[in-house]
Amino acid sequence: MTDKVELVNQHRSFATEAGENILSAALRQGIVIPHNCRNGFCGSCMGLLHGGEVEYESEEKLKGLSDEKEQEGFILCCKAMTKGDIQLDVETIDAVADIEIKTLPCRVHRLTRLADDVMQMEIKLPPHEKFEFHAGQYLDFLLRDGRRRSFSMANSPSSSEILELHIREVPGGSFTGQVFNEMKEKDMLRMQGPFGTFIMRSDNSRPAILIAGGTGLAPLKSMLEKVREEGCDRPLHLYWGARAIRDLYFDEDLREWTEDLDCLSYTPVLSEPSAGDGWTGATGWVHEAVMSDFPDFTGFDVYASGPPPMINAIQKSFPDNGLEQGHFYFDSFEYANDGD
Ligand SMILES: Cc1cc2nc3c(=O)[nH]c(=O)nc-3n(C[C@H](O)[C@H](O)[C@H](O)COP(=O)(O)OP(=O)(O)OC[C@H]3O[C@@H](n4cnc5c(N)ncnc54)[C@H](O)[C@@H]3O)c2cc1C
Repeated sequence: MTDKVELVNQHRSFATEAGENILSAALRQGIVIPHNCRNGFCGSCMGLLHGGEVEYESEEKLKGLSDEKEQEGFILCCKAMTKGDIQLDVETIDAVADIEIKTLPCRVHRLTRLADDVMQMEIKLPPHEKFEFHAGQYLDFLLRDGRRRSFSMANSPSSSEILELHIREVPGGSFTGQVFNEMKEKDMLRMQGPFGTFIMRSDNSRPAILIAGGTGLAPLKSMLEKVREEGCDRPLHLYWGARAIRDLYFDEDLREWTEDLDCLSYTPVLSEPSAGDGWTGATGWVHEAVMSDFPDFTGFDVYASGPPPMINAIQKSFPDNGLEQGHFYFDSFEYANDGD
């Protein structure tokens, strides 16, 4: 028994099987709805129900769907299942659907310490192997015991023989601990990708605010490298939040980039500047610094990547300052759920 999901304003539809959530059904049929955690937390896959009914497997409250949004008719596609045919208004990203997901062996090409707890890992793919991706997407390392670890590409898609990753060491983290303490150049790994829908939307030219927390800079750096190659089509305001100056591992380059890219402005924000830093720039939480510079987000797109608390804070506070539904794009660097 299947139900039909009709995509409002898109003149297309897909089918859901019994017990299958809407996101999985769409992806299975090559229709990419934005998604991130796939667990009801992040809200990336939110859509507006125009007709029909859905149900959720459990009665538990979904963190990514406020009561207010639910009353307005919004649903989370990663958890909602159809109860008969429905009509749904949700964003789809065709550009991502066109790229083949590959599983490849790769070699650690170079490890460079960028900051106390950030390693730049460059990985080399087998010769003649083409790995296509969109700026902003990520790969998964496939570990021997079946676990996966996600990291965003930091380089431009145009130079994909060597992939650049920025890896933050998680205290007690099994994979990142290995990267910092055991891994050597030429070690072999297995990876799969590209994944993710955190890509710059090219169907509008609204000014964009880009917010990175720590290694959340990686996917935004990839997007900005592409902009450097292709030119700007909109004003871009980059904010990068870190603890102290020593954590701003790409600061000098970003300052230089603003000199050759007229559309780009850059504001680093430190949450714990050291007394000896002599820091005279912005301080505090990065999202608060953005709100103080932009009291009204109407007409802006916001792209953010980094720690889940930063993403949650933006999700909670920016709509009150005019950020419109459907104009917040993000990658929340959740820790892997090995139980899944
Ligand atoms: C789409 C996506 C893209 C990502 N891209 C990047 C990237 O480009 N760069 C990057 O550095 N990271 C990125 N991450 C995060 C990265 O995948 C995790 O840091 C990594 O999986 C940690 O692996 P691990 O084996 O070292 O840690 P694990 O062994 O999985 O984690 C250790 C355990 O400690 C706990 N823990 C440890 N530290 C913390 C903490 N600070 N807060 C809360 N709990 C904690 C967690 O509960 C976890 O279970 C991304 C994540 C996602 C989902």
